[in-house]
Amino acid sequence: TPILMWFRRDLRLSDHAALTAACASGRPVIPLFIHDPLVAELGAAPKWRLGLGVGALADRLAKMESRLILRRGADALTVLQELITQTGAGGVYWSRLYDPASVARDKDIKETLKEQGLEVRSFGGHLMFEPWTVETKTGGYYKVYTPFWNAVKELGVDTPRAAPKQIPAPEVWPDSDELDQWEMDAAMNRGADVVRPFVQLGELAAQDRLARFTADKIASYKDNRNLPGVDGTSNLSENLSLGEISPHQCWQAGERAMQEGKQGAETFLKELVWREFAYHLMHHTPHLLKSSWRKEWDAFPWKTDGESAEVMAWKQGRTGVPFVDAAMRELYVTGRMHNRARMIVASYLTKHLMTDWRIGMAWFEDTLIDWDPASNAMGWQWTAGSGPDASPFFRVFNPETQLDKFDPERAYTSRWIAEDRGKPHKDALAYFDAVPRSWSLSADADYPDPVVPLAEGRARALDAYENREF
Ligand code: FAD
Repeated sequence: TPILMWFRRDLRLSDHAALTAACASGRPVIPLFIHDPLVAELGAAPKWRLGLGVGALADRLAKMESRLILRRGADALTVLQELITQTGAGGVYWSRLYDPASVARDKDIKETLKEQGLEVRSFGGHLMFEPWTVETKTGGYYKVYTPFWNAVKELGVDTPRAAPKQIPAPEVWPDSDELDQWEMDAAMNRGADVVRPFVQLGELAAQDRLARFTADKIASYKDNRNLPGVDGTSNLSENLSLGEISPHQCWQAGERAMQEGKQGAETFLKELVWREFAYHLMHHTPHLLKSSWRKEWDAFPWKTDGESAEVMAWKQGRTGVPFVDAAMRELYVTGRMHNRARMIVASYLTKHLMTDWRIGMAWFEDTLIDWDPASNAMGWQWTAGSGPDASPFFRVFNPETQLDKFDPERAYTSRWIAEDRGKPHKDALAYFDAVPRSWSLSADADYPDPVVPLAEGRARALDAYENREF
């Protein structure tokens, strides 16, 4: 009786508790990925990136004389039940997910299959600290980051496991779809041509990046992490998002660097814990994903037209504010955006343009290859002022002074803005090739005037804040 090893956002072989347990059971293991409604409804860029990740995992498994079985269905339970009938599988293993939709799906599947006598086991691995295991002294959850950090840093992190040496194969493999049939790139107009060169695909690439980051970059991470024109961060978020690397592996490498006396290493560990904090919040207050964490903020007079001229200028990187435009173009071309820039564009949209943070969150959800439900929602609510431990609304980032501080040599804006420059950077030009023709953009046009003068936008936002009715 084989075990179905259902991969979801854990596309790796090393430090994989569920896979290790499946292999240790002595039974044949059938690795499986299911295209269910939760996959179908992903944003364009995350879905495309997931397709690449699934392909890379399938290649890895093939090299170990195993396979990744691909099945698509209207719901995951039906797919699993069909496979159980076809293969005689006696168990289903998976790594836990924490967003409310996945939790509800998995709970239902677990109950139903257990009633049918199957062995169903879920494992940790996506997080270092299960959200329900970290509690305040009074038994509650944490709403502020620093005490959360102080609590978890003492807990210790499990040592990462090696990949299994072999994955026992079944005598007969069940049928599999072809990945191409799924058209994971259907909604992504610029995947293969534009974004692909910026993707760091798969487990081996992620491990390589982690090794290079901890060898060369981590020592100056504390200073460089704020400079969007410098390649000074780990760049591992897309891999963490799909589980191509585990947070434990990142933590262990960071801890080792700290022991070697590398200065920035503790800051790196703290950033990994921001990700854990986002999951902690999502677990305890799942409304974080949909509505203002501080409920009164839903009464703020946000603008809610996601297609207004101002919002379209923001999405298309032509607000006339160089830091904002550089960042939005970086996002469109690479599927990523530097953390400092994420804060600037989010502040600009929610404050200077007074637009509902959910509009920005949704655009990120459609365009980021490192999209993560918890970190994205927390990041937006942090910036908008509606979240826990948030930056207060009246703290309006000034994109001009931020640029002087964090991009003093203009390395970042020169890389991403082509207009009015003698010899634009190739990435700045790539943006104009990437955008849909309907946007009517040309690198030869003049750089746009500001859609809202910064001082006016700031005054309007602060005025609304002063006059809010809560
Ligand atoms: P590093 O600086 O090398 O940090 C290491 C890891 O720590 C990251 O890979 C990430 O997993 C975690 N991390 C770092 N900063 C944060 C943070 N502020 N919050 C949560 N985790 C963090 N991150 C995502 O992974 N997916 C998202 O969809 C996402 N949306 C965001 C939206 C907004 C508005 C903001 C302000 C931030 C968002 N972030 C998101 C957090 C952060 O910007 C990225 O994790 C970071 O830029 C990734 O680059 P890196 O891997 O080089 O990070």
